[in-house]
Amino acid sequence: MMKAVMGKYYTELTTGPAQGKKTAWCTSVGPAELLRALGYNVYFPENHGAMLGATRMAPDLIPLANARGFSPDICSYLTSDIGSYLKGESPFQKMKLPGPPKADILVFNTNQCRDVKDWFQFYAREWNVPCIGIHTPRSLGELDGPVIEDVARQTEALVPEFERVAGQKLDPEKLRAVMALSRQCTELWKAVLEAAAAVPTPITFFDGTIQMGPAVVLRGSQDAVDYYKVLLAELKQCIANGVAAVDGEKFRIYWDGMPVWGKLRDLATQFQALKAAVVASTYCNSWIFDDLDPADPFKSMARAYCRLFICRSEDRKEKYMEEMVAKYKVNGILYHDAKTCPNNSNNRYQMPQRLEQKLRIPYLVIHGDLNDLRLYSEEQARTNIEAFIEQLAERAAHR
Ligand code: SF4
Repeated sequence: MMKAVMGKYYTELTTGPAQGKKTAWCTSVGPAELLRALGYNVYFPENHGAMLGATRMAPDLIPLANARGFSPDICSYLTSDIGSYLKGESPFQKMKLPGPPKADILVFNTNQCRDVKDWFQFYAREWNVPCIGIHTPRSLGELDGPVIEDVARQTEALVPEFERVAGQKLDPEKLRAVMALSRQCTELWKAVLEAAAAVPTPITFFDGTIQMGPAVVLRGSQDAVDYYKVLLAELKQCIANGVAAVDGEKFRIYWDGMPVWGKLRDLATQFQALKAAVVASTYCNSWIFDDLDPADPFKSMARAYCRLFICRSEDRKEKYMEEMVAKYKVNGILYHDAKTCPNNSNNRYQMPQRLEQKLRIPYLVIHGDLNDLRLYSEEQARTNIEAFIEQLAERAAHR
């Protein structure tokens, strides 16, 4: 079903322009609902970035972007995607599709990082198309009135340009309908992730990184809602029957930071062998938007997209992780320090030490990257993970 749902999405994405559909590129937590309500083909380049990582095409493509002046130290989604464009090679071709669709408009939200804007501006210059977006403040504490007001106004101000490129007016009814579907998708995705609070868990972080596909690229569509209804029913069945994602689950780990896309299978297999289930993550939870409200589209979008973990202050992040550790009965936290994404690496400002002291649970930092495998030492990560699980076993034995 996953193959069918995602396959349909990619096919429509590449065939849409021939049927007169305009294509909008959108950042993963950009105003996708607005674009969908205006009938755009909505394409998410970060999803393409993840595909380039998972297929291990990225390390060969990144140097091409480096040669054009994009530093090897910046987002490796950006550099692998631009490398893919320069070389004309993409995982889309493995699906017998021509490649990512060319944008008629590029739409960003800087809630996650500045890189997304720089990334989109490269294509805006290449194709001479508009690149517009929302500049969300970072390190947000309280989500108070002025911030939400500002982001809601910025979002509303995008509409005339969206309408001009789409060649149609925004229908408020249509927007409400898309928002309602997005909200439903979010609720179901949240319930899917919360299934991992069960002991043993029927789903791990590694499954989540794949299962999140529809929540990322199809929120606001019926297809995503239908998909998660089936998945959730299956997970409930697994819980009822005691079916474990990790046979003989003994340890429960929280994964902070980006996945190492090119090593998902190896890591999943290693944790499986160690009887450790990675039950929750900051990453997969980033597509839960509890605030979306069809009755108040602009303000609720602003609230939802400002509540994102990545753009919150250190104390908010700490509180959130504390809650996750309790909810998912976590024994240890693994921080992935992704070299090219400081935005998603939460080990750099003393978070591990503070949480260890407060919660009395150990942590491990592994150094690597989301896409650039040249920055990941597999041997070192394997040894460190093994030692970490041994440490957890010793603690358990002394309890
Ligand atoms: S948040 Fe990180 S991985 Fe995502 S686009 Fe920004 S720099 Fe890249």
